[in-house]
Amino acid sequence: MAEFPTSARVVIIGGGAVGASALYHLAKAGWTDAVLLEKNELTAGSTWHAAGNVPTFSSSWSIMNMQRYSAQLYRGLGDAVDYPMNYHVTGSVRLGHSAERLREFQRVAGMGRYQGMDLDILGPDEVRSRYPFLETHDLSGALYDPYDGDIDPAQLTQALAKGARALGARIERFCPATGVRREGDEWIVQTPKGDIRCEIVVNAAGYYAREVGKWFGRDVPMMVMSHQYMLFDTIPELAQWTAEVGHKLPLLRDVDSSYYLRQEKMGFNLGPYERNCRAHWVTKDDPFPEDFSFQLFPDDLERLEWYIADAMARVPLLEKAALTKVINGPIPYTPDGNPLIGPMPGVPNAFEACVFTFGICQAGGAGKVLAEWVTEGATEWDMWSCDPRRFTGFEDQDYCVKKGMEVYGHEYAIGFPHHAWPEGRDKKLSVVHERTKALGAVYGAYNGWERALWYARPGDDASEEGTQTWRREGPWFGAVREECLAVRDAAGILDLPGFSRFRISGAGTIDWLTRQITGKVPAVGRLGLGYFADDKGRIVTEMSISRIAEDEVLLITAATAQSHDRDWLQSHLDPGLTFREETDLWSCQILTGPKSRAILAEVTKADLTKPWLTWQEADIGGARVMLMRVSFAGELGWEIHSRTEDTASVWEIVMRAGTGHGLRPFGMFALNSLRIEKGYRAWKGDLSTDYTVLQGGLDRFVDWTKPDFRGKAALAAEQQRGVTKRFVTLTAQVGDCDPPYMSTLWHNGEVVGETTSAYWGHRTGACVALGMLRADLAQAGTALEIEVFGTRYPALVQGDGPIWDPKNERIRA
Ligand SMILES: Cc1cc2nc3c(=O)[nH]c(=O)nc-3n(C[C@H](O)[C@H](O)[C@H](O)COP(=O)(O)OP(=O)(O)OC[C@H]3O[C@@H](n4cnc5c(N)ncnc54)[C@H](O)[C@@H]3O)c2cc1C
Repeated sequence: MAEFPTSARVVIIGGGAVGASALYHLAKAGWTDAVLLEKNELTAGSTWHAAGNVPTFSSSWSIMNMQRYSAQLYRGLGDAVDYPMNYHVTGSVRLGHSAERLREFQRVAGMGRYQGMDLDILGPDEVRSRYPFLETHDLSGALYDPYDGDIDPAQLTQALAKGARALGARIERFCPATGVRREGDEWIVQTPKGDIRCEIVVNAAGYYAREVGKWFGRDVPMMVMSHQYMLFDTIPELAQWTAEVGHKLPLLRDVDSSYYLRQEKMGFNLGPYERNCRAHWVTKDDPFPEDFSFQLFPDDLERLEWYIADAMARVPLLEKAALTKVINGPIPYTPDGNPLIGPMPGVPNAFEACVFTFGICQAGGAGKVLAEWVTEGATEWDMWSCDPRRFTGFEDQDYCVKKGMEVYGHEYAIGFPHHAWPEGRDKKLSVVHERTKALGAVYGAYNGWERALWYARPGDDASEEGTQTWRREGPWFGAVREECLAVRDAAGILDLPGFSRFRISGAGTIDWLTRQITGKVPAVGRLGLGYFADDKGRIVTEMSISRIAEDEVLLITAATAQSHDRDWLQSHLDPGLTFREETDLWSCQILTGPKSRAILAEVTKADLTKPWLTWQEADIGGARVMLMRVSFAGELGWEIHSRTEDTASVWEIVMRAGTGHGLRPFGMFALNSLRIEKGYRAWKGDLSTDYTVLQGGLDRFVDWTKPDFRGKAALAAEQQRGVTKRFVTLTAQVGDCDPPYMSTLWHNGEVVGETTSAYWGHRTGACVALGMLRADLAQAGTALEIEVFGTRYPALVQGDGPIWDPKNERIRA
């Protein structure tokens, strides 16, 4: 027997489907000096008892990418590693009971086709041809996914393990990691068999991930649900039908009723995501177990009764079968239900690939993504939806439990664009929260911060139910229009708590920052946008840079980017520079619109003639504030940055001064409309690592004269080759819904691009979309089509500049 390894380049903690896939992909990338530690036998966590469904369906582009990759990988894996597996590609039908649900299917089918998958929408009558035993009288239609199927999770894990071993990677079973410590640049992973010294550690510990995270000082945002499926005995009619047609039934998902029903041998497997769900290991009398290997929870059929009855009404054949077995196992959830794959926030050379809710269908893709993070420091697809840094530390256990249960209970719910589920709110409140609330604010959470989305007028429906629609004109629409027009004609104020703020100072600051961003660092007293590219020239992040002094800058970035941007800056910081986070010290009001100067003039003696993209210190009612002359709304305006303790008085003084000038509070929905008309990109929608800085149309933020900056070589090579895709603004004559993210753009019957954001522009009276288009078509006046929920509508490429105030005259006024 080989000796226990005392060193390795990478140690993976956890031998479920995900850990095994991570090891396999690392080995395939040539990183064979990798060891996987499993405390018990491989699959002992959630993997052994998983149902093994392998859908490709997702309303998230990146997760669909991951699942599509998994399905492709699994098809060839048995042969590739010489380990035959039970993988049945049965296809699936996903039932729709409403027009809104069918729109979801159309959207996902559109994305799927763009990823090369032939997903199909079936009418109620066609569903029966795929699934003969179905009651269809109350259906609106279905989505057919020919790639869906089920795999034996244990065989999958063993196949991945075999492939990894064959390439030289090692697996130590019955060998728990018991702790880690840092020595110099190395991690020491402790086990009862001895220490392993390594460069990189991966937490792939499934529902134990929180315990493992603690060793790194990391509070993994997660909780554990109990999830059940039921196995039903052989049904002779089903056996006979299967013998006749020579294949199994497609997997059935009744998503509006919230369960799947799969043919299992000649019987069924029924798996609900029930509303009356149950969390485990969250109370003192139900502590987290030291070890739960190969164990299950007791059956809890009471919770499932409604679902069994519903499934029997849908597929009456099920009534004939005896229930033979219930599997009730632990399944981990993050607060948004997506897994954690990527860098462990704030911890060097440590990664996470854990907390998977759909870890069988995602294992393949997750292994690829994790291996890319480890070996290249970046991933092929933008994976923000799964990036551990999307959580920032405010997610305490109570929050994780509430959100996890909420996601589980709505696992199949439609992700409407204006809707958010109500749990876990009011985690962080602006100091003027009560005041904006009194004015009718309806809030949304941004990194835990409550920000006004819109201001409801008397009689407006501000209910959560009111937002469960794809339609543009929900209850908020009229109010948002008034807010936008107030910003256009008079002035608006938006209370914007939660910006992430980092101050960097010391000799060499500017030289360092010049190497980090693609463009120029502004002069003292000025501010501007800085784009941070990766080595491939792709857009990592965008920050506003205020030059405070010769050797000092203040970087302000999105609330949700807090952990991401902090990690990026700190991990690239030159030694000797001082880094200070000031996120909690300050807050911000956006004051914008043609009357904003007159309003400010009443409350401060600051020089309000200072040009666009300058900042100055000013006094408002005795409070020292920073006035930054910028407006994401694209009008004359200032951001008023005040110390948190001064913010309430500043807000009140400005509001009072605004009364005579038509000042009106506005919210994030209006800001979205205004910024899209102005062609201003939003991070992780329009700006992501799916695009390079040049594709993103950010050429004017690239300073080629600089000797070097991160990504320069790649961007220069791209420039030389010719940029193949270009950022464009479009106007679209769509129906009653604005195009969701990744709606496809068509030209001469071919897909030639996609939207990255779209919204109704109230100033321009048009549906405005931002997107990426094949470069040869990216010229003003090109007529395109845009596919929205399966229908193609005319769209027109606009000129180089934004469609609102293309010469920036209003903003510079
Ligand atoms: C009833 C049920 C049905 C499901 N059906 C599906 C399905 O149809 N499709 C789907 O995609 N997903 C399904 N899932 C979810 C799926 O099971 C999980 O998402 C998946 O198994 C997670 O894999 P993993 O490798 O991340 O974690 P796990 O399989 O839990 O693996 C983690 C491993 O880490 C090991 N470990 C923990 N701590 C240590 C340590 N300190 N040292 C060494 N090893 C350690 C554990 O022993 C464990 O083996 C289902 C879950 C349940 C409960």
